Amino acid sequence: MIDFERVPSVKKSFRQSSLDTLGQLGTTKKMKIPLELIGRGTDASDNQTLRRKAKKKLVTNKVVLPLIDYARSKGNEDMVRSLWNTYHCQERLILSENIMHGVYCKNRICTVCNGNRKAEMINKYLPIVETWSDPHFITLTAKSCFANQLYDRMRNTKRAFKIIADIIKKRHQRGKGPKLVAIKSLECNFNPYKRTYNPHFHILVPSIEVAEIVLQEWLRTWTGKYAQLIAQKIRKVEDRERDLIEVVKYGSKILTEPNPNNKIERRKITRRVYIAALYNILRAMRGLRLTDTYGFELPKSKTKTKSVTVFDYDELSYDMEMMDWVNEDTGETLSNYEPDPELLHILNKNIETELC
Ligand SMILES: [Zn+2]
Repeated sequence: MIDFERVPSVKKSFRQSSLDTLGQLGTTKKMKIPLELIGRGTDASDNQTLRRKAKKKLVTNKVVLPLIDYARSKGNEDMVRSLWNTYHCQERLILSENIMHGVYCKNRICTVCNGNRKAEMINKYLPIVETWSDPHFITLTAKSCFANQLYDRMRNTKRAFKIIADIIKKRHQRGKGPKLVAIKSLECNFNPYKRTYNPHFHILVPSIEVAEIVLQEWLRTWTGKYAQLIAQKIRKVEDRERDLIEVVKYGSKILTEPNPNNKIERRKITRRVYIAALYNILRAMRGLRLTDTYGFELPKSKTKTKSVTVFDYDELSYDMEMMDWVNEDTGETLSNYEPDPELLHILNKNIETELC
């Protein structure tokens, strides 16, 4: 069932360094080919981090396989290729002195990569948000739509904000309004009861004044036919980091509440994964930048991509059955992660492939 031929070899990503260095290997226990590894790698000394990573890898792989089947049934070979990369994301790890290196797929559906991306975004944006005197969190949405309208709606949603940003900018240049400063991301929910999709923005702005202007212009741009005041939200930010995470996390939840509007039911029924809906959302978001910033510059990043040559290392590969990375020489597992029963139930029984 696994179509390895379509996937680029993971091995070639670890660049082999000059064999001249072999002469220095006198003290290593076992002769290995020296490897030049790109990037700083990840700390492998903290078991909690390793277990979290194993959980993300499990969720991703369990969801990606049926998604691949679905994408293939739609004839979307581009998506099939990209999903296979995700299936093989971090499949092989090189572990040396408690630092591990592996190849990331960097796809949106990948929860392993999204964890990294989230950490990077927080490092980048939190220092900016910390300088804001009275940050507010806005949720902007327009009427939900069906799957066949989603591709266009996603683009129109982005276009609507661009119109708003231009209006606010021009007004500010004329000295008649505040500057638009914001961090914004596009997300999309799926409602399995109504089978509708709801693209929406989460936006952080530095003041209530900016929040209210953005909201007013949003309602004006969409008109009452598509956007009602009652569906939009503005609230004061109490915890800057928590709300920044809310903005920069990935655009669609993999696990969906069966009925997002019914709080009682939400507690009783476990969550599900809707493959066709995820496919539709991924397809509609393809090629779109989900996070945009307005009105501030980030300090230039000075960190260069480093590389390190390792001589003594372990090679691990991910094993779906073990739900963990396994040392290829010793058979030892890396994280000893054990999923909780609810998650296993969702991943084994609650993946819906039909509904869309
Ligand atoms: Zn990945």
